[in-house]
This record gives sequence, C-alpha cells and structure tokens, in this order.
Amino acid sequence: MSNYIKLTLILYILILNSTISLFKYTFYDITTKSKPSNKKVCLIIVDGLRVDALNNMPFIHNLIENNNAQFTISIADKPTLSRAGYMRILTGAPTHISGISSNNQHIPSPILSASDLAISQKLKTALCGYFWIDELFPFSFYYKKTYFIRDGTTFNDAISVVNSFNPNFLIVHPMSVDNAGHSFGGNSIQYKNTANKIDYEIYKLYKEVNKYNYDIIITSDHGHQNFGGHTNFEENTFLTPFIFISKRTYLKLPKSIKQIDIAPTLCDLLGISKTLYMTGDSLLNNENLSLLRKAHIINPTLPFEYNLSLSLFITNILLTIHLIIYFYFIRLIKSKF
Ligand SMILES: [Zn+2]
Repeated sequence: MSNYIKLTLILYILILNSTISLFKYTFYDITTKSKPSNKKVCLIIVDGLRVDALNNMPFIHNLIENNNAQFTISIADKPTLSRAGYMRILTGAPTHISGISSNNQHIPSPILSASDLAISQKLKTALCGYFWIDELFPFSFYYKKTYFIRDGTTFNDAISVVNSFNPNFLIVHPMSVDNAGHSFGGNSIQYKNTANKIDYEIYKLYKEVNKYNYDIIITSDHGHQNFGGHTNFEENTFLTPFIFISKRTYLKLPKSIKQIDIAPTLCDLLGISKTLYMTGDSLLNNENLSLLRKAHIINPTLPFEYNLSLSLFITNILLTIHLIIYFYFIRLIKSKF
C-alpha cells in the first residue's frame, strides 16, 4: 500500500470518528422541555427494599400518611438483580436494550445515565454508597465516596457532601437492607430492624437536604424473597416502593410505575435533556417522551431498538457515500498534480 493511501485511511478514520459522534447526538439525544426546576435532587436507592418493609419505617410511613410524601409501587423488570436494576433506574433503558442483565458484568454502562446528562449540563453530581454503581458509571460523579463491603458511613457522607459540596444530583445507596435480606430473609425480624435503622438514617439526611429544598426520591433495585435472595421473579422481588418528597413539585402518580420511568423523571426534576434510550415515561406531567420518540423512529410498529439499528444503518450508508466522494476527490487531486 502506498503511503498516500495509508495516510488517506488514517484521515478517513479520523473523519469517521468525528462524524459518528455527530450522528450519535443527532439520532440519540433529544431535549424535552422541563418544568422550571431548582435542580436539586436526592435519589436514595435502598438496595433490596421490598414494599412491606415500609411498615417498619415510621418516618417515611408518617410522611406518606400525612400527605407530605407521595407513594406508589415501582415495578422492576426481569431480572430482579441489582446491576440490572441500577441500569433501569439510572439510564431509563430496559434490560434488553442496555444489555446489563447480570451482576457479573463488571463493565461500564454502554448507555448514558441521568448523572452523565447532568454533568453535560454543568450540574454537580455525587454518589455515596456501594461501589457497584460507580463501576457502571465511573465518570458520572464529581464527588464519590464508595464502600466495598459494608455501608460504612454512607448517610453521614451524604450529609457532609450536601453541606460542603451542595450537589445538584446526589445518589445515596445503602446496602445493609439487602445484606440482611440475604442473611436472614425478607420476612425476618433482622430485615425489618435494618429497614427501621435505614429509616432513621433517611430522617437525619432529610433534615439536611430540606434546608436546600431538594426533591427526594426513595426507591429500590429489587425486593427480597421471604427466605432471602431475589432471583425468583415474584411480587416480593419485583415490587419496590417509590416515594417522592418535594415542597414544590407534585407528581400525578398512577397505582404503579415502571422502574424505567424514574430516569426521565430525574431528568425533568433536574431540568435536563433525556436520551432516546429512556423508553419509560416521566412522572412529571409535561411533554411526553414517547411522542417525541415517535418523531425519531422510522417504523413505529417495529420495536424501538430495531429503529435504533435502522438509524445506525442509515448513518453507515451516509458514511459510505462520504467515503466514495472523499476517494474520488483524492484521485482527482492526484491526477492534477
Ligand atoms: Zn442482593
């Protein structure tokens, strides 16, 4: 191969790269208009918290009873595993789109999370808790304090982060309820006691974040079977609580929501754009993402992911035309000189 062809190929790869990133944003990134937001959201993912555990969480229970918090049930999709759950909550993509379906996939998420989108809008993000979320989204948090085995001082970390760093988006992710579920079962006294302890931690954090008017979401990746574990797809594992606490925003909550509705809701609360991978619907009553998505897809009768492949296919055709023109002109220039 002559040197000039090699050089041309390198140049082409560079152009291809930049074009792909251009197209990536054309096809996959859309903006929906959000309601005015104070851009302060605290998402508490209590790992392995099933719905009836709320009976042992007096602080949250009272907030709901006194209409100071809104409650509904969030339905986790299959599989009811942590990593798949974090992906659904944070990217809004169902598992068959994200591809993250096992806890053994120690790889970064192939899809942007609400936190990545927040960073791209110059918002400050923070994570306190177990390291698995950090493994999926290693570049998504300005500030992070993670633990490998026990929770350590997750909630105290969160309180100090709120007061010193004042993030726009804070994720707090305690593991102790899930650990108790695995050791003693979701119906055990130990599991209930641990949920009770977390409730008190949430109360302490609530007092702090309230000073800054944070909107708070409390939810979970999955529940727990009566005798521990959460691999069986049953009500105890796929039903989790969804609690929303806000002084300024009211959600119209249906009887149940999907886990993938949380990410677009986070985007609306933060006043940032969503991605087309978010196939759930925002719980804020504003522009419907599915309508906007329809405008971007070519054949609405095909599943969404096929349309994404079609977009990629069209991108490739355009790039091939680009390549032909490029080589044609190179030959033209070469013949002139
Ligand atoms: Zn677990």
